[in-house]
Amino acid sequence: MSTNKRLIEISGKLRVPPGSKVNLAKDFDTGFIDPSVARKDSDELLRESVAQLAEYQARLAAQETYGVLLVLQAIDAGGKDGTIRHVMSGVNPQGVVVHSFKVPSSEELAHDYLWRYAQRLPARGQIGIFNRSHYEEVLVVRVHRELLERQKLPPKTHGANVWKRRYTEINNWERYLVDNGIRVVKVLLNLSREQQRTRFLARIDDPEKNWKFSPSDIAERAYWDDYQRAFSEMLSNTSTKWAPWHVIGADHKWFARIAVSAALVQALAEIDPQYPEVDPDVRNGLQDAKSLLESEAPKGARPDPVK
Ligand code: AMP
Ligand code: MG
Repeated sequence: MSTNKRLIEISGKLRVPPGSKVNLAKDFDTGFIDPSVARKDSDELLRESVAQLAEYQARLAAQETYGVLLVLQAIDAGGKDGTIRHVMSGVNPQGVVVHSFKVPSSEELAHDYLWRYAQRLPARGQIGIFNRSHYEEVLVVRVHRELLERQKLPPKTHGANVWKRRYTEINNWERYLVDNGIRVVKVLLNLSREQQRTRFLARIDDPEKNWKFSPSDIAERAYWDDYQRAFSEMLSNTSTKWAPWHVIGADHKWFARIAVSAALVQALAEIDPQYPEVDPDVRNGLQDAKSLLESEAPKGARPDPVK
């Protein structure tokens, strides 16, 4: 089977069927490895996958009709940064825009909640990556309700039904993006509580990793069950036909990286971007330019050294 087909098959197995009710802990294994991928072949598969992404990205940029938005969500230490580094390693930096979303600024809080995400969308021809995304608006904001109170919402709009409404609003917004050529690829890196503990300890024990650790990470860890519930609700309500979620076991970083690149390859294969055809008039013009350049060959040089 071709690498392309293998990756598309892997990605298909990780997709959350639209309309299904998800219980993250019960339905998904954080240590999942697709049986078709052996550890000893995994570096090669990732390399091939990255090469395919680079080829697709070159076509996507030349065609300038579609954009791709990769939405990456995970609990702390889930591996978002390392995944971005590895998966995008072969792609032309001009064609990729990455944005990490942090606690919103006062300017951002003065706008509607999707405003800051809409400003960071990829253009046609680009691959955009949201390292955290608009989904924080139904994750961290749901787990810490006081964050919602800071959003200056009109009275009566932040009652009990606010989360259902946000799911609908987000689904509609993504529908609009997809209808207008911006393909949305959503990935949840699903980490176990034990792996998070191990990775936090690595960040404490290794001085070069200390900068990655913040005491607030421990405070957030105490909300583990609340986050798991918020993830399950998010997956149950926002995996749609036009923008389905992929849940990727994150305990094995090497497999998670292959799986994320597989989800991107699958989306790009569906877009199947093509280099633009040059129309006959322009092509004739190219021949005129060629003759002129050939006539300028210095003495002793071949008229066309490329041919
Ligand atoms: P990090 O990704 O580790 O640099 O941390 C970014 C922090 O920003 C995390 O603690 C997030 O929970 C927080 N954050 C991201 N988006 C939002 C949001 N919309 N509202 C509140 N906090 C957010
Ligand atoms: Mg962090």
